[in-house]
Amino acid sequence: MLQKDAEAVIRTPLDRIYAQFKDPNLTPWLSQVPSQVLREGTYRWFNAKQRQLKGLAKAPRKRSRHNFNSVMLCSDLFEFTEKGHLIIGTAKFPVGRLNFLAHRPFGCPKMITVRESAGRWFVSFSYEQQVPLDGYGCENNKVLREPHELAYELNLLEEIEVAALTLGIDRNIGTNCVATNRGNFFLPEAVTLKRMARKASGAKRQQKRLARTQKGSANHRKAAARIARKHTYKVEVLCDFAHKTSLALSESGAKLITFEDLKVQNMTRKPKAKQDSSGRWLRNGKAAKASLNRSILSSAWGRIRTMTQYKAARRNVLVAFVRPHYTSQQCSLCGHTHPENRHGAEFFCQHCGYRKNADINAATNIAGRGVVMLRSGELEKQPKAKKCIAVKRKTKSGSVRPEVSVERLQDADPGLAPRNPAHDAVKQKASAVRQGYPS
Ligand SMILES: [Zn+2]
Repeated sequence: MLQKDAEAVIRTPLDRIYAQFKDPNLTPWLSQVPSQVLREGTYRWFNAKQRQLKGLAKAPRKRSRHNFNSVMLCSDLFEFTEKGHLIIGTAKFPVGRLNFLAHRPFGCPKMITVRESAGRWFVSFSYEQQVPLDGYGCENNKVLREPHELAYELNLLEEIEVAALTLGIDRNIGTNCVATNRGNFFLPEAVTLKRMARKASGAKRQQKRLARTQKGSANHRKAAARIARKHTYKVEVLCDFAHKTSLALSESGAKLITFEDLKVQNMTRKPKAKQDSSGRWLRNGKAAKASLNRSILSSAWGRIRTMTQYKAARRNVLVAFVRPHYTSQQCSLCGHTHPENRHGAEFFCQHCGYRKNADINAATNIAGRGVVMLRSGELEKQPKAKKCIAVKRKTKSGSVRPEVSVERLQDADPGLAPRNPAHDAVKQKASAVRQGYPS
């Protein structure tokens, strides 16, 4: 409550500072915006800055008018009608009526966000709702447990039970499917894959048209919007696929789901430029790597992993990440590892003659490594509280800044936490601004 009061105190002067940017000659586009909307702009900046000072996020970035167009509206600027319309605006600035499609029943929010993306408009909000709780203060009689508690419970079981409750997941770049050690394959629908390919070639064609238009012209804007719509289809298909796959995995009945600990960001880096001794630039396989990167990202691997993590946590399922090395070359029966074991989509062990689908074999190896990890007790370790340490950086004059460590997270008492001089400087600047900037 105290924090809320403090925010209210600080928000008012910030609004006033924002008001001085409003100038009919210098910033005519800002003058057109109602003050209530500008006020929310300062609120968003203030929240982002607070998160940065707490070490939870990076500094708020500058955005152009065309980048992620979104606006926050508070309750005095919108109204939901009984017919399912959304009326936006005030008596002075009536914007209009918006028909919208609600995907589920909802309550009345205090604030909404309206966003435009690739020519389509979205309304998003959250609202307060009373959820019936049981005697333990939990939803649907489910006690949610921490990962180390789940690992401890699983470790009490017999070897056969643990193996039956473990699900290994392997990803195939070639066909973009996700395979499990139980022999299930997840793949986006064939129709959507076909449409995706068609829209990709369409986007390529439109890109040529875009190149011929003049920058800043209406035709340039229209052509860019057409390309954006084509790319949006792929994004939405992959998001849908990731949601469906992660739900199926977390509801598969498994108690331990193991993924390869792949660093997708590192894997999809572009290759370094190559030079010979005379300084001439050589071919570095950039086009081939770009194609591989595209197919890695098209498998939505990172998204499936992230979504499975939170969906599994809601169902008391443990998720583990194992070492990814040689999972496709190792025999899941005898453990023999050799590149010749792999023949395209088929796995054929050179040592014991075991034959299996290559993806299922790899998923079995991943599940096996997950069980080893569980038995080693690594998953039972409690996570340490995160610490955010300010990095020593050289200033422009060459002197070294004083090293400051900032305890973060909720358990740190703000009154006792060491003060960061950099934060104080920001606060001093802000108070100077409030007291009559520009001087
Ligand atoms: Zn073998």
